[in-house]
Amino acid sequence: MSQNISKIMKILAKHFDYKKRTTLNRMRIKPNSFRILISCLLSLRARDVNTEKVSKKLFAIADTPEKISKLTLKKLEKIIFSSGHYRKKAKTLKSVSNDLIKRFNSKVPDNKQELLSIKGIGPKTANIVLAFTFGKSVLPIDIHCHRIPNRIGWIKTKTPEQTETQLEKILAKKYWNEFNGIFVLFGKTICQPVSPWCSKCPIKKHCKRIGVKRSR
Ligand code: SF4
Repeated sequence: MSQNISKIMKILAKHFDYKKRTTLNRMRIKPNSFRILISCLLSLRARDVNTEKVSKKLFAIADTPEKISKLTLKKLEKIIFSSGHYRKKAKTLKSVSNDLIKRFNSKVPDNKQELLSIKGIGPKTANIVLAFTFGKSVLPIDIHCHRIPNRIGWIKTKTPEQTETQLEKILAKKYWNEFNGIFVLFGKTICQPVSPWCSKCPIKKHCKRIGVKRSR
């Protein structure tokens, strides 16, 4: 199993230049914890290109908890309108900013327990902040990172939380840093949810294709 994992990680790392290709990964180069946190919240159920556009627009107007807190909800909704689910996201951005000001002296905490104590921050966002900002060894698990290891046959889990726990056991630490970036790109471009592109998949011969009923 561990040989199979190493082989697959090496093939995928060669195939996907993940450092340049997602907004959040590009932000790792000069990490700013608040910006990464806010962009991650904006990226939920949004296309990457939108996240980048909306983040830039927002940070040009407000790039600190204080500045976001001072914006009216209406104004904030207008700024982030094109990110989708803008009403819910505007509320979350305001409440997270207010919480950071009140409880954490406007600083983004560098540990999971405190991050998860802030309403609106879930395990994936917390791990993105910890890994991308503070360089911690954690595995941010989104829907692609959950689906693909189950399809390949590495694990058999029902929730992203279970996937995180299982992957922590079987994935060597040296791959943790790149895992999220690679699997997000892989899931968006090849191993897509409904009908994956198995015919052009670089790891086809190593994959058990569990649960795949239709493919291209
Ligand atoms: S072979 Fe198909 S199911 Fe397996 S990883 Fe590749 S695209 Fe996904």
